Amino acid sequence: MPRMNTPLTLRDILDWLHEDNPERLKTLWAWADETRRQNVGDTIHLRGLVEISSRCSRQCAYCGLRAGNQSLTRYRMSPDEILVSARQAVAYGYGTVVLQAGEDFGLSCEWVAEVVRQIKFQTPLAVTLSLGERTEAELDAWRNAGADRYLLRFETSDPGLFEQIHPSRNQHAAGRLPLLRHLKQLGYEVGSGIMVGLPGQTYESIARDIDLFRELDLDMIGIGPFIPHPQTPLGTGELKPVVAPGLQAPNTELMVYKAVALTRLVRPDANIPSTTALATINKRNGRELGLQRGANVLMPNLTPVKYRRLYEIYPGKACIEETGTACNGCLRSRINAIGRHIARGPGGRKRRAMEVEVLC
Ligand code: SAM
Ligand code: SF4
Repeated sequence: MPRMNTPLTLRDILDWLHEDNPERLKTLWAWADETRRQNVGDTIHLRGLVEISSRCSRQCAYCGLRAGNQSLTRYRMSPDEILVSARQAVAYGYGTVVLQAGEDFGLSCEWVAEVVRQIKFQTPLAVTLSLGERTEAELDAWRNAGADRYLLRFETSDPGLFEQIHPSRNQHAAGRLPLLRHLKQLGYEVGSGIMVGLPGQTYESIARDIDLFRELDLDMIGIGPFIPHPQTPLGTGELKPVVAPGLQAPNTELMVYKAVALTRLVRPDANIPSTTALATINKRNGRELGLQRGANVLMPNLTPVKYRRLYEIYPGKACIEETGTACNGCLRSRINAIGRHIARGPGGRKRRAMEVEVLC
């Protein structure tokens, strides 16, 4: 296995993804934790998540919000409701609010721009948007309105698998990678990420995903397990991408920790959340283990409770009943229990000195 100061090759990443020896894995956890400590410190950034609309025009084969799921009651929050949640984020001391939704074209360009302007005018928060694949003109307008960051997971770097599980809106759709590059050009801090253990996703494909995180120079990287939803083609088995025996990567907690730890090693200064999906498959201490194996961000849920259960991306989602206050208290005590501290301020990516010089 490579030593701590040697950059990981694609082969090393693949070997670690196959590693199941608990003693050797302890080395990986310690290496990722130390890299996290040296590069982003012991503080944890809290980003308040507001799920502003469950309406979606897409047919992603993995997601419970897909347009084809007719058993879901849809909602769209009003601008006033969103501002109430944003003020709650300020009251709890969070530095960022994340506005997330399905690809809902009822969230028009001007509607979103005005919400962003109001949040920036009324609060000191950084604003992160996660509204799916939108036009370059919309992304530009929202940046001009004050949005600081954009999250758009590429989900898997395997183009054949992505096309199967995420049907394009039209034949000429360019996909998510060109949009990520465009977001960078617009001056957003850019986040992306993957699901781990998608049917048809191999170990090698995850190794390539992690290598791509390095190449894309992402500021934020979210990694969670794929959790089957019974009202989706991947959940029912109606769509079953297959790979040769022994190649399928599992959607286990352990696999997610390995991907998080390796991601920290290839992107030492990125902001990496310990995701809600991870907390869903290990409600007892998945979040904490994620934080101890490379992650440095948590995303407490600020969606009003009456909407929360309607934003059912996957079943059994953690924190579906808790109020914002309960979530805030719970996360703070979990952070204290592992000896870490809560960061103040918006908590953007702090590039290492050498990189800043090169970029300026
Ligand atoms: N619509 C936007 C988009 O697709 O980027 C943002 C909302 S979408 C629900 C946010 C993320 O949820 C997706 O990027 C995907 O990784 C994750 N997700 C969706 N279905 C999931 C599932 N069944 N298991 C785990 N994560 C899932
Ligand atoms: Fe819609 Fe995003 Fe879910 Fe796809 S992943 S169905 S775009 S909410």
